[in-house]
Amino acid sequence: MAKWRLRYWGDPVLREHCQPIEEITDEIKELALFMIDYVDNNRGIGLAAPQVGVPIRLFILRDYILLPDGKWVTSEPKVFINPKIIWKSKETTIDSEGCLSFPNMTVGPIERPQEIHIEATDLDGNIFIDKREGMNARVTFHENDHLNGVLHIDRLSPRVRKKIEPQLHEIKENYSQ
Ligand SMILES: [Zn+2]
Repeated sequence: MAKWRLRYWGDPVLREHCQPIEEITDEIKELALFMIDYVDNNRGIGLAAPQVGVPIRLFILRDYILLPDGKWVTSEPKVFINPKIIWKSKETTIDSEGCLSFPNMTVGPIERPQEIHIEATDLDGNIFIDKREGMNARVTFHENDHLNGVLHIDRLSPRVRKKIEPQLHEIKENYSQ
């Protein structure tokens, strides 16, 4: 049996405030690689450790890159350990979001900062600062929220949240273990 599995809406681990990582062990490296594989095999762009049942401060993602010919591609995966958003713009964008823990569901509108600066540690233990804009800022903010037990549906208006209640209920019925 696999060591880790995807956790869906209704699993209490998604509401945990995740613990900082003190040492980058082989297990942490293995977890990060598992998460990257999972995202690649499930058409995701990012994933946070609590989504595979491990309440620690780690997420992985790929960047969206717009090529000169107008095509979108994604970057190599990046690992963020103990990330901290050190700056966010007052300017915001509004868009819809999906989440692997909420299968076949896109929700919105969700307002996020247009630009953020984030500091984190990579798998080799190096601290880096990333400046992220637009969709990439949105994905980063979404993943960072997971580490605080915050989900995208928490950022919907009460009206929209109420409207999607039947879908949420369905996920709990069909996916919770
Ligand atoms: Zn998510």
